Amino acid sequence: MHVTGYRCTHCKREYAYSEDMLTCEHCGDLGILDILFDYTAIKKEFTRETLASDRTNSIWRYRALLPVEGHNWEQFLRVGWTPLYRSHALERSLGLKALYIKDDGLNPTASLKDRASVVAVSRARELGYKTIACSSTGNAASSLAGNASRMGLKSVIFVPERAPKGKVAQLLIFGANVISVQGNYRQTFELSAAAIEKWGFYNRNAGINPIMAEGKKTAALEIAEQLCFNPTDWVAVSVGDGCTIGGIYNGFNDLYKLGLLERIPKLLGVQSSGCAPFVKAANNNGKLEPAEENTLADSIAVGVPRNVEKALRAVRESFGAWVEVSDEAILSAMRTLGSTEGIFGEPAGVAATAGVVEALSKGLIKQNESVTVLCTGSGLKDVSNAMLAAGEPFSCPPDLHALEKSGRIGK
Ligand SMILES: *Cc1c(COP(=O)(O)O)cnc(C)c1O
Ligand SMILES: [Zn+2]
Repeated sequence: MHVTGYRCTHCKREYAYSEDMLTCEHCGDLGILDILFDYTAIKKEFTRETLASDRTNSIWRYRALLPVEGHNWEQFLRVGWTPLYRSHALERSLGLKALYIKDDGLNPTASLKDRASVVAVSRARELGYKTIACSSTGNAASSLAGNASRMGLKSVIFVPERAPKGKVAQLLIFGANVISVQGNYRQTFELSAAAIEKWGFYNRNAGINPIMAEGKKTAALEIAEQLCFNPTDWVAVSVGDGCTIGGIYNGFNDLYKLGLLERIPKLLGVQSSGCAPFVKAANNNGKLEPAEENTLADSIAVGVPRNVEKALRAVRESFGAWVEVSDEAILSAMRTLGSTEGIFGEPAGVAATAGVVEALSKGLIKQNESVTVLCTGSGLKDVSNAMLAAGEPFSCPPDLHALEKSGRIGK
């Protein structure tokens, strides 16, 4: 492990890398921590050459950059190394120089959250915990439950009652102790925090635990490596709590510090208009006000995000931008990705694609630029919203004549 310590994103105090610490002792919940790495040591074992000869097809190919020992990583669910597709059809219709889509719905529990959960499970084991807990809009929960189950840890999961059935089904199948909270995500988070404190579980709350963003940064490491360390001008990410986009920035920043990248891509933070506290904060000197959670993109319906500084910094320091998109634009992106690329994303999973369309129309992304969008989760978890996007099939009697008369099929 090449971790040298923590630094508070708020007051900049530094701390040793101890097991008990999740947030800054002075700043409380405002004091989200960064994990600091010894890049000089990492440089000696992590180069283009070592990567080129490493056949590990999971996030563990980047273990030099992870804040865990990663004992027995071969036994974990296989997380990461998801495909990066070039979309010729969409880049032509949008007029972009190049458009790539990274399909993180293909992770073992079908969302990008697996990147964080597998690292959290590794850390919990290293610290000797038997039970790991989190609150989640859905995907972090099912992801934690699956990754914990595989490694013999118990999981206690708090979800808001609006969590889609598919995600709750995953939780139950993975054998989690599921607490469905009669309230919104903020209330769910607060109940989980109180329970974790009372019973002393390992805390996988993405809003608090700095390891989560480090797990998620592997998506950026992969994008860079898959594009031969020449990433696109922009990388678009949907944003709820802010942990994912914060992690994506950390990943590119690591590679920049190691001399493996010449520049960090501009990050496009995408939120739903029904819940866009970051977009409003960016237009308000970074002052974040709680927002309603009023969108069908449940995974990014986070009215009180916790990773405020990490997310705002990611966009600011990469010279990126924030945009918001309507639920209609999200459903439209879902149809487009499905019908032109064969990629089935959930609403929050395709929001980044809708954001690229919006950023192009506002002139934030220029037509001669290149873009990668992150599809963060699979649409199979939330079939009712997919049907809302796609409509019902044609219902036909079992009769060829009737089928012909319907005009549904032509040469
Ligand atoms: C969690 C999640 C996001 C957003 O990640 P944050 O860390 O909450 O910003 C986006 N899409 C999907 C599918 C997610 O599950
Ligand atoms: Zn602090």
